[in-house]
Order: sequence, then C-alpha cells, then structure tokens
Amino acid sequence: MRINCVNTLLIPHARTSVTVLLILCCGLAFTPVSAWSSPAFQLETTQRFALMGAVEYTLADGHADLATVAEMAFTPLSESNGQIRTRSKAVWFRFNLENTSPSAVKWVVAASPPQLDEVTLFTRNQDESDWHRQSVSDRQPFNERDIRYRKPAISHTTPGVSSTTAYLRVAYSENDSLIPQVTLWEEKGFYNHIQREYLWLGAYYGLMATLTLITVLFAVTLKDRSFLYYGLFLFSTTLMWAVQNGLVYQYLLPESLFLHNEGYHIFFLLFALSALQFSKVFLRTREVLPRIHLFFTIAQALALGGLAIRFAGIYRPVTDLSLFVVAILLLLPVATWQAYRKGVDHVLWYAIGWIVYGLGMVTNIGGRLLFWSLPLEGYILQLASLVQAMVLTIAMGERLLYLNRDRLKAIEEAQKDPLTGLGNRRVLHEAYDNLRDHFRHAEAPLFLLLIDLDHFKSINDRFGHNAGDAVIRDMADLLRRLSRREDVCVRFGGEEFAVLLQANTLAEAEQIAERIRREFEHRPTVYEKQQIDHTLSIGIARVATSNPKRPTFENLIAVADEALYAAKSAGRNRAVAAESDEINPFNDRQPATDS
Ligand code: GH3
Ligand code: MG
Ligand code: MG
Repeated sequence: MRINCVNTLLIPHARTSVTVLLILCCGLAFTPVSAWSSPAFQLETTQRFALMGAVEYTLADGHADLATVAEMAFTPLSESNGQIRTRSKAVWFRFNLENTSPSAVKWVVAASPPQLDEVTLFTRNQDESDWHRQSVSDRQPFNERDIRYRKPAISHTTPGVSSTTAYLRVAYSENDSLIPQVTLWEEKGFYNHIQREYLWLGAYYGLMATLTLITVLFAVTLKDRSFLYYGLFLFSTTLMWAVQNGLVYQYLLPESLFLHNEGYHIFFLLFALSALQFSKVFLRTREVLPRIHLFFTIAQALALGGLAIRFAGIYRPVTDLSLFVVAILLLLPVATWQAYRKGVDHVLWYAIGWIVYGLGMVTNIGGRLLFWSLPLEGYILQLASLVQAMVLTIAMGERLLYLNRDRLKAIEEAQKDPLTGLGNRRVLHEAYDNLRDHFRHAEAPLFLLLIDLDHFKSINDRFGHNAGDAVIRDMADLLRRLSRREDVCVRFGGEEFAVLLQANTLAEAEQIAERIRREFEHRPTVYEKQQIDHTLSIGIARVATSNPKRPTFENLIAVADEALYAAKSAGRNRAVAAESDEINPFNDRQPATDS
C-alpha cells in the first residue's frame, strides 16, 4: 500500500472502483500546487469517496500499542466502512507515502471532530529504524498544540525521493457516538483549506452575532418576551456551535478543557431549553395547546436535570438525554400545525425555519447512517441552523405584523358603533385632538354639529324599537352621503350624532347643517311598509383653530349641547349656532353636566 508524492503533490495511487475519484485524481495530477488546495486524500470513514484501497484500517483495544497492532490484520478501507465506530476501541489507519520528487514534502493529518480524545501518529521514514511518535489530545490546553488548529492535527515531513510508513491511531477514552474523520493534506493545501474554512465560520458567527444583537435590541425596545427568548435561543445556538467547532477552546477559553469536552452537551441542552421556551411563547402553547405545553415543560425539566448532572461530573446519561431533548425539537412542526389550527396564524415563517432545521438534522443523521455523500456533510446542520436563524428572524417580524394587525382590529372594533358602522364618541375625541393640532396654523375654523333626533322616544313607542333602529341607520347613511371625505361623522350616543368639519365661515357650516336637517325631514324612513316621518335638531359650535388657547373636547361638546338645547327649546327641527360665534378660551369653564 503506497501513495506516491509526485511534484510535491500527494496523489492516491490506489485501485478504486469509484470512477469519480479516478477522474478527480487524474485532474489533480496535472494541477500545479499553487492552484490546488483540496485534500490529497481523505481517510474519512464516513465519506463515500474514502480512499478505498490506499489506506487500511483495523479496530484495536484502546490499550494496544503499535507493536501489537502492527501484527494485526488490516482491512483496506472500502465503501462499507462508513460505520466505523470507536466504541471503547481505537481505530488504527495504516498507509505508506512515497515521495518521488527531489524535494521534501511536508504533510498534515487532521482529524475531526475537534473533541476527539486522542490522535496519535507513528511515522517511520525510509532508512530509519525507530518509530517517531506524535500525539494530540483534547485534554491538553490549546496553546500546547504544535499546530494551532481547532481540530487535532499533526504534521510530518517525507524527505525527497523517499517514503514514510505511517500508523494513525484515533481513540476515545469513553464510549461516544461521534464518528472520527481523518484527512491528509499537503501542508500548503492544509493552510489554504483553513483559510477558506475560517471565512465560512467567520461569516456564520458574524451573521449569528448580528441577528442576536438585533433581536436583543428589539427585546429591549419593544419589551417583548418572545424577542428575549429568541435572543437567548440565538445566543445558545451560536455558543453550541462555537463549542462544537472548537472555537471556544481555540480563542476564548484555551485552558478550559471541561468546556471543550463536556461543554458541548451543556450548550446542546441550553439550545434545546431555549428553543422550547421560545416556541412555547411564540406558539402560545399555554393558551392553545396545553398538553403540548406540558410536554415541552417536562422536556425542559429533563434538560435542566441533564445540565445539573453534567455539572456534577457525570457523563454518559447526559449524552443520551441531550439527544433525546433535541429529538423533541423535531416535533415542533407538528406543534406548529396544531397551533395554526387553533388560530395562531403568524406561524408560516416559523414553520419554514423548523422545517429547514429538521431537514438539516435528517440529512446529517441520514448522511452518517445511510452513507450519503454530501459536499457540506460536516457543516450541513450548521448551515441549516444559519438559514433557520434568518428565517426565524423573519418569523419574528411576521409575528409583529400580525400582532399589530390584531391590535388595529381591536382598536377599530372598540371605536365602531355596531348598529350604524359609524365611529363612536371616542373617535370624535381623537379626531378633534388631531384636527385641532393639524390646523393650528390654518385660518379655516373647525365646526362641530351636534345632532339629536326629535321626539325619538315617541318613534320607538309608535313603531317599535326595530323601527327606531332603522331610523338611526337611515340617519347614519344620510350623514355618510352628505359628508365630505375629511369630515368626521360619529354616532355620539343613542339617537345623537355629531359631525366635525372644517368650513371657512359660520354661514358655510350652517348651510351644511341645514342640508342635513332638510334631507332628514324630507326623506322619511320606510320600515315594514310604514312611513316614519322624522325631524332633527342641530347645535353648532365653532373652534377658531388659530386661537392658541383652544377649547378642550369637553368644552366644545358643552357649547354645542347648549346650542342644541336652544334648538330644541325653539321648537325643534332646526339648526342653531352657539351664541358666541367662536369658542374662545373656555378652559376654565366647566362642561355642562346634563345633556
Ligand atoms: P327630544 O326631541 O327632546 O330629543 O326627545 P327624544 O324622545 O328624542 O329624547 P329622549 O332623550 O328622551 O329619548 C331618546 C330615546 O332614544 C330614548 C331611547 O330609548 C331611544 N334610543 C336610544 N338609543 C336607541 C337605539 O339604539 N335604538 C332605538 N330604537 N332607540 C334608542
Ligand atoms: Mg337625546
Ligand atoms: Mg332626541
């Protein structure tokens, strides 16, 4: 078993049934070094394109030494080796590197994941009799590593026109569910690879940090709990990946071997905990899905229990527990669907977010179990998590839109008179405040017409309450018909209406009032074939908008009411303007109590 080094390239000299690999290798053989930075060959046990035939492997007891292992039978790596696991054993790889170029070739072997317990490389160059041993462990502080890389990596130099025999031992001290991957690089290719890798990782963490920051700002400014939980979710997701990628170990806490090794599950659990909390609030499970709410709460309690156990120094059950709790997240699309059916309608983007994540998870697990080969296999779930974070941020926006829509609807409902569809007294008050400010500098004054139907009680008595309602509706229609777009017509109460309008002079306002009075008088209501004749009275009050001391709403109503009273006293079916043709500072005047 040998691998040639030609023109400082390491090219697999392997028999392989995978045509794709052959084509790839032929391409590489004619590529200059500077342009080439892909791995020389990959010993990834999970990859379809493992270097079949070129590398041999064997499983040995965790304590077996090189001499023992060298005597053991080795099997060429083949497609069926996707499932090599290290359960209480070490995996040993054996390969031979031949350098046919005159200059020395430095190569690097790097293993995944960053939490691999121990990677040991035994090398013996041609003409040497002793084995050279190098080892990297995740139990060493980061700064003690020869190659400052987040994953365990070891380098060796094969002299020119020479060969090296190598044994690589990958071992876990505990049973673990992780599957080791090993990649062999020519040194330059290795560093080119790292640069690209850090570009992608930088983009990931930059985006996640930005999303987290924006979310926290929203949480603070909107004082919205779900933004807070979403922020926590983003933060724990980011930390979880930072630990898993080995970046917390490399950059933040190079001495904290606990965080680097056991920390992964801690952040895994925090991720699940915050995902569930965020989802509970987002989907309003407490109100609409009490049973799922309880289930999620139990899962959160388990996650908290797992955290406590891990901090107590116990390892195994936490691993299984965290897998279980994260598996519960796969139920989120179901919960989302249920919540949607129960009326939580802002869930479209939220659902997409979790479907993306679910697909990432299934692809990741499927890739391991079913031996799929994907270009981004190691990062597929992390990429899905990034897309998910962006989609969920949109979901938060969608939620705000829907909440705002509901709020506006509620306000509208609260301001609308159900019988006529006109606004109510509250609308008039608001409109008055707005118009008053809006026309502060305008010359055209505002007028309020306060309208009261005459002898309405008698209409009710003679024709019945429903007929009275029909009259009230007719009156509302009449106002809608006669008013301009900018006029504000409301049902003020019972059989009283009000119109707030802008006119240049009192005479103009009086004309409008007169038209309303006349139309109402001349268009009797027909209810169940009975003709109901009716009249109304109007009190007119004027506000000079340029007056700096404008009257309050209550003042205005009191003045209009006084004019209305005058109209009633004068015999009804008429419009009367308030005595003073302009409401001057009435602020000290009490509003009339009986209207
Ligand atoms: P005036 O000419 O002095 O205004 O006499 P009036 O009978 O119109 O005045 P009053 O305030 O005594 O009576 C108003 C009546 O309007 C009393 C109430 O039953 C009736 N009313 C109030 N709201 C409604 C309603 O929504 N539908 C009907 N049908 N009647 C209503
Ligand atoms: Mg009345
Ligand atoms: Mg009346």
